[in-house]
Amino acid sequence: MSELILHITGMTCEHCAASVKEALLSVPGVRGAEVSYPEATARVAAKAGTPVTALLEAVRAKGYGAAAGGGACCGTTPKTESKLSVAIIGTGSAAFAAAIRAAEEGAAVTVIEAATVGGTCVNVGCVPSKILIRAAHVAHLQAQHPFPGLAKHAPVLDRKALVSQQQARVEELRHAKYEGILETNPGINLLRGFASFEDAKTLVVRHADGTEKRLTPDRILIATGRSPQIPDVPGLAGTPFWTSTEALIAEDTPDHLIVYGGSVVALELAQAFLRLGSQVTLIARGSLLSKEDAAIGEGLKAALIEEGMRVLTHTAVQAVRFDGKSFELETSAGTIGGDRLLVATGRRPNTSGLALERAGVAVDASGAIVVDDHLRTSVPHIYAAGDCTHLPQFVYVAAAAGTRAAVNMTGGDAALDLSVVPAVVFTDPQVATVGLTETQANKLGMETDSRTLTLDNVPRALANFDTRGFIKLVADKPSGRLLGAQVLAPEAGEIIQSAALAIRNRMTVQELAGQLFPYLTMVEGLKLCAQTFTRDVKALSCCAG
Ligand SMILES: Cc1cc2nc3c(=O)[nH]c(=O)nc-3n(C[C@H](O)[C@H](O)[C@H](O)COP(=O)(O)OP(=O)(O)OC[C@H]3O[C@@H](n4cnc5c(N)ncnc54)[C@H](O)[C@@H]3O)c2cc1C
Repeated sequence: MSELILHITGMTCEHCAASVKEALLSVPGVRGAEVSYPEATARVAAKAGTPVTALLEAVRAKGYGAAAGGGACCGTTPKTESKLSVAIIGTGSAAFAAAIRAAEEGAAVTVIEAATVGGTCVNVGCVPSKILIRAAHVAHLQAQHPFPGLAKHAPVLDRKALVSQQQARVEELRHAKYEGILETNPGINLLRGFASFEDAKTLVVRHADGTEKRLTPDRILIATGRSPQIPDVPGLAGTPFWTSTEALIAEDTPDHLIVYGGSVVALELAQAFLRLGSQVTLIARGSLLSKEDAAIGEGLKAALIEEGMRVLTHTAVQAVRFDGKSFELETSAGTIGGDRLLVATGRRPNTSGLALERAGVAVDASGAIVVDDHLRTSVPHIYAAGDCTHLPQFVYVAAAAGTRAAVNMTGGDAALDLSVVPAVVFTDPQVATVGLTETQANKLGMETDSRTLTLDNVPRALANFDTRGFIKLVADKPSGRLLGAQVLAPEAGEIIQSAALAIRNRMTVQELAGQLFPYLTMVEGLKLCAQTFTRDVKALSCCAG
């Protein structure tokens, strides 16, 4: 008889522990198993000779990660093999997904972090911004809603309390999803410091105290993310402008916030501060969300103006002045003054300090690392994932890339399929898109057919007394196959995944129109829009069967 200890990842409750136990007990030779959710371990009593791989596979088949943690109380000592060593630069979403998977595959993983563990999403990105946006939404509904029978009132704001609540959730999630994993997963070690390449095989990690450590791992994953891109505007450098990082934790609400930028982060934060009571002027060099179907940017601009935002599109900022209290921006639309300036004009890859040229890792003109669909860089044993690459800058893309990179680094074969990438902008109305726009499809030589359904045709929107926006579907004309969906609607983010699945499964708009969609949901609008390819939606019965 032997006793083995396994380290289990991915358990979120006692039920998971019971499920892992059941899986282990099903392996021939296993006589007993005790699984601890808090300790993330399984203690297995098994007949001598029971293969550890069978135990690991049984756990993994249930959807959890497993790694042999050693043990052996009664005779048999597990064979020790020299482990593949993997160094991962960064501890964000790409890095952590990769680290967990590589450790599950048996590698000895070192993650290297120069700043706060967890990277952008949990600390200064998705999580705090969505909390801020939600609070601002509730404030907005107190002052503006479509039900005259309910008294409206100006929100009474305690910004300091909101920030404190937001940051408490950030810390909680950082611990649950990042720091806690480092504490419980013995296969992953954290090295604090700034990493750069000495040559293709050697990483130098410079610690805060100035000392250095050299690593020569078998595989390297670069997952260093991005940072705010600051435009080269005369006078801007040296002024106390905000990036999204400062805006998210600012305890004051500006009287007049100037936002420079016309893309996702600029729009989300501009509307949030507007709803928290700031006067907001948004200045964009081009149109809003210029990569999307033009109707999206136009519709969103109209909605923001309707709410009270001043929106200046196709406007260049020529100079910035700060007099110690207020900002003044010289722009092609005149001088704009405000007490705060938020610069959100995109993010640049964190690659310049890595000395990638010493390793021979190729980057594109913007400094983003070029990878293939297996996340391989131009150097065979060096991989890259997440925002530091040229791939779409979404946390779920970063995590999916990290996992696949880990599989490939540890001898597996996993490609990252980005043929269907849903995207959401968390404004109100939200913007949600997937697949091709009409213009993109036409550029690819496809003959398209499209329909746009305004939300006054969607029963849920009518019941909400909020019919801002539209759903546009683009189909391949000869086959009717759905190619893309562009949605501007409240909660559009909850609609788009159905369109993504329809595209993934190569459905035609006729097949989509024939599906059952629950009545009085916003997603029903997809079906209605699909129906308009063959019918006049106004003539349909109320549940559009
Ligand atoms: C305000 C905002 C809101 C967002 N909202 C969303 C959203 O709602 N949904 C969504 O999908 N995406 C959102 N994103 C994008 C998302 O946050 C990123 O796509 C994702 O976090 C990228 O993860 P990553 O692992 O590639 O990099 P990061 O999470 O940035 O991690 C990189 C890490 O590497 C470290 N590092 C860098 N260089 C070195 C070095 N040389 N040595 C050691 N360590 C180093 C950094 O300190 C950092 O911790 C948002 C981004 C922002 C800024």
